[in-house]
Amino acid sequence: MQVSGRVLVCDSIDQAGIDSLKRAGLQVDYRPEIKAAELVAAARDFEVIVVRSRTKVTKEVIDAAANARIIARVGVGLDNVDVRAAEARKIKVINAPEAAATAVAELAIGLMISLARSIPRADAEGKRGNWIKKDLMGTQLSGKYLGIVGVGNIGRHTGRLAKALHMNLIGYDPFPINRDFISETGMIVTDLDTLVESADFITCHVPATPETKHMFNAARFARMKPTAYLVNTSRGEIIDEAALYSALKAGRPAGAALDVYETEPPTNKDLLNLPNVVCTPHIGAQTKEAQELASTVIAEKIIQILRGVI
Ligand code: NAD
Repeated sequence: MQVSGRVLVCDSIDQAGIDSLKRAGLQVDYRPEIKAAELVAAARDFEVIVVRSRTKVTKEVIDAAANARIIARVGVGLDNVDVRAAEARKIKVINAPEAAATAVAELAIGLMISLARSIPRADAEGKRGNWIKKDLMGTQLSGKYLGIVGVGNIGRHTGRLAKALHMNLIGYDPFPINRDFISETGMIVTDLDTLVESADFITCHVPATPETKHMFNAARFARMKPTAYLVNTSRGEIIDEAALYSALKAGRPAGAALDVYETEPPTNKDLLNLPNVVCTPHIGAQTKEAQELASTVIAEKIIQILRGVI
């Protein structure tokens, strides 16, 4: 069944989703560079507004979008959409939480190995002509305890990959953790402080909420093993970066890998320049496969909503 309506795509998204929307009969305006003021001016003409992370769908945009029925985020978090303002107008807000799990989990594992084997430093020094083999005594993941903070979609995916590397899993989540996952992986479920004290590696997969803001702070770093590594591919706000800088300088934890930051792009250059920090520029979901999946999942949801199926 064909559907009609106009869709404004405000950020660059994979072509596959745009093709699906057009095939279903929708008129798609692809404006991946659109500025905030231009969006406010244009919003009235569209039934659907699609964004990734660059565009902020503020209350001002929502107030201007008099004909909007759907706001779609091609990604997981909805931090850049004023969901409350949209709901007040009965505009459906949708996202693609399932699409990025594999990509983010693989990055989390990659960051753990990068920390444990100092791969970025080895690479940088090697390219400068420095053979620093004796400085690079690493540690193995196999047999180590991985603490997963937030055992949702991505946390579970990361756990399964870590199991394949023969790691032992410890998990913390204030909400019930999937029972099948626990029996499949043998995860030990505990409270956050016990996890922080026991883990050799900690990987964070929680949403940004008032409860998770600075959940990793000076007190938590002081509880970590001096040999432990911390990986954050979730949201920057969950780590107090000033406290992390001091903790890493003091040698506890041994290192940290960050894909997300309190402000993005990050301004805390002293933290990023520490030799025991590995940093990536929010690339968790930045794989061809994840972007294609997110864009097609979102297109399918938009079409189904406009058809009145969901
Ligand atoms: P999810 O909703 O499936 O899982 C989040 C889990 O965190 C849930 O199980 C929830 O119960 C738990 N949680 C909530 N509050 C908590 C708390 N106070 N302490 C511990 N756990 C808590 O979400 P997901 O798809 O697994 O995504 C996890 C995070 O990854 C989100 O912050 C998301 O924005 C982020 N993410 C980052 C990238 C990236 O590019 N780096 C890409 C996709 C997603």
